[in-house]
Amino acid sequence: MRRSDLFATVSKESVSDASCRSEELMQKAGLIHSYGSGTFGYTHLGKRVLDNIEQVVRDEMDEIAQEVRMNLLQASELWKQSGRWKNFEAEEFFHFENRDDKDFCLAATHEEAVVGMARSFVRSYRDLDLTVYQIGRKFRDDHARKGLLRAKEFTMKDAYSFHQDEEGLNKKFDDMIKAYKKIFEVLGLDYSVVGADNGSMGGDTSREFLACSEAGSDTYVSCLNCDYGSKDLDLEECHECGSKLEAVNGIEIGHCFKLGTEYSDSMNLDFDTETGDKKSVVMGCYGIGVSRLIAAIIEQNNDEKGIAWNSNVAAFDTAVILANGEVEDSALEVYQSLSEKEDVLMYDGRLSTGEAFHEADLIGVQRKIIVGNSFLEDGLIEIEKRNGDKEFVEASEMI
Ligand SMILES: [Zn+2]
Repeated sequence: MRRSDLFATVSKESVSDASCRSEELMQKAGLIHSYGSGTFGYTHLGKRVLDNIEQVVRDEMDEIAQEVRMNLLQASELWKQSGRWKNFEAEEFFHFENRDDKDFCLAATHEEAVVGMARSFVRSYRDLDLTVYQIGRKFRDDHARKGLLRAKEFTMKDAYSFHQDEEGLNKKFDDMIKAYKKIFEVLGLDYSVVGADNGSMGGDTSREFLACSEAGSDTYVSCLNCDYGSKDLDLEECHECGSKLEAVNGIEIGHCFKLGTEYSDSMNLDFDTETGDKKSVVMGCYGIGVSRLIAAIIEQNNDEKGIAWNSNVAAFDTAVILANGEVEDSALEVYQSLSEKEDVLMYDGRLSTGEAFHEADLIGVQRKIIVGNSFLEDGLIEIEKRNGDKEFVEASEMI
């Protein structure tokens, strides 16, 4: 994309009202627009980043679950069946009456909706196991703070699994943990996995994924050597590898729960077993805070110049910078040839060369390709990586 065509609102001024580094950089880099009250819009630049993260999540989820889409506008009936409607204030959801005096809410979570959907398809043991997921918006009437870290409207990946028994659930739960680890590694996150034993089902019934960051609101101990973490702050050494633990703050980026039959009992989601008995479906649920991930990645990956995310996340891998108007045709040729393989932003002269450098670093471009004086004099194109490493190559090599 040519910079002169890009809808971007990159700011030259510092952002004074940001409460954390990610909020500051996201506003400065023009990724998001704050509408106030914890609601945000994404510019084209921000949407590209969100799409990249969604794609990483989708690639892993498609291996173990089927993508669906559920309703955001939800009538109260299913919530009354699960017993959660009466808690809507504690559960922080937006609720209202429509013009027919019917109760509705905006989806804060989808356990009720997914059970409602599964109930019309699951009849017998032959229909199980089943795992579905969606990536979409959620609404929570929470105290918004720290930009995308805690917003009233946000994007989540939520998955739900349905099983005949706990053995099926345990297997899917392990598959999810593996997929989550892969996702967070591909996104370039340093994270811990915190287990919780909730008792009734034996063993760990939940796993929380925390990205280590000062901006996080959870305190936990993290192993210096592996991904083990715990909210029991009195521990001295890692249960997995025996290494030292340190107390840190973290951002919750994912959570896996073994729900058991809590929802299927209250909402009558059952199936016929092989022997003809009726049994409640055993469930698991698995969330990832997709829009929050943008903030978590930035919190962990930034430097004095701006955002330093990896090429799986960056809106543009490469910037081609036209640094001398006399070589415009050659710069365009380089841009067009690279664009066939990767996402390239072409600084086509609308910004000064200095401004282009500054902005490319701020928005997290991985490498800058400069077509200017050295091309004019020696036919060489300069490649500069984010860490400052430079090399010169023949134009023909690049094209
Ligand atoms: Zn360890």
